[in-house]
Amino acid sequence: MASPSDRQLVDGFGRVHRDLRISVTDRCNFRCTYCMPAEGMPWLPREDLLSYEELTRIARVCVERFGFDGIRLTGGEPTVRAHLPVLIEKLSALGVDIALTTNGATLRLVAHDLAAAGLRRINISIDSLRADRFTEITKRDELARVLDGIDAALEAGLDPVKLNVVVMRGVNDDELVDFARFGRDKGVQVRFIEFMPLDAQQAWTNDQVVTQDEIVARIGEAFPLEAVPESVRGSAPAARWRYLDGGGEIGIIPSVTHAFCDSCDRVRLTAEGELRHCLFATRQLDLRTLLREGATDDQLADAIRAEVGAKWAGHQINQVHFIRPSKSMSQIGG
Ligand code: SAM
Ligand code: SF4
Repeated sequence: MASPSDRQLVDGFGRVHRDLRISVTDRCNFRCTYCMPAEGMPWLPREDLLSYEELTRIARVCVERFGFDGIRLTGGEPTVRAHLPVLIEKLSALGVDIALTTNGATLRLVAHDLAAAGLRRINISIDSLRADRFTEITKRDELARVLDGIDAALEAGLDPVKLNVVVMRGVNDDELVDFARFGRDKGVQVRFIEFMPLDAQQAWTNDQVVTQDEIVARIGEAFPLEAVPESVRGSAPAARWRYLDGGGEIGIIPSVTHAFCDSCDRVRLTAEGELRHCLFATRQLDLRTLLREGATDDQLADAIRAEVGAKWAGHQINQVHFIRPSKSMSQIGG
């Protein structure tokens, strides 16, 4: 007889997995310096990408067999894959919460269709509010379009709209307070992300990381903050602080200095169909081959259970035995 834990995806440390991150493409229309080189990034051939039917099948197995309740679409840049609303419509039929992470450049064109297809929540990445610096970081002169994309997401009724800012010392850390003010004015949560060693160029160094503690202190000087209790945060990666004057909240993703591996409930599916149990995993399960060789739902579920069963306690950034994954954030799916 099946026990309740057979209906859940539990690893060797008792963590229950309910959140699927799907990378729909490794391609991107930006070239953020902290993610990929300006030129020469190799792209997957089309036939290696999972089709929308294949992606939906894996998502369905996760929802039906293991009770997953959230799916986030990411990439690369998910909006560069053709007919993204078609995928969202298919995934919406599974009855779970659907979210998207995007660079925002095409949202004026697609936000309405994404919302109509069933998208609820959106995170938009923006690393500078200064046009010249934005271009320097992304290698694209697109700040105005991204700002307009944020408005388009709000107008389409996506809720919540959150902004992702990767903070890098000497690059954009002098804009922390500007971003806080921007979020307060727009009524959106800004989430500051500690720079992680996942750039394709492998140029990351520890001294470029601006820590959670420093971010909170610097913003708090301008707009006093208090921590939102951890009990409210659950398994969400962002630690939260609220403004004492009621002006909203900021989030911080402190992957480097305060890893949240203990409460991790995520698995990731790359665009080519590899299941990875951690952003920093150095192993993966080849679900594409299983799918294309005709595996049944039971066989897919068994393989996923075995892979997640082998999940480690946590990544080891900053420790001597940390091994960088050979893939970048854009190839794994952020
Ligand atoms: N293209 C979309 C975007 O930029 O939002 C989705 C994919 S991107 C890989 C997902 C998130 O990962 C973005 O918020 C991006 O800023 C973040 N990211 C990429 N490389 C990173 C790194 N080395 N350290 C921290 N965050 C990173
Ligand atoms: Fe593209 Fe997102 Fe990577 Fe920037 S962070 S290069 S927008 S995938």
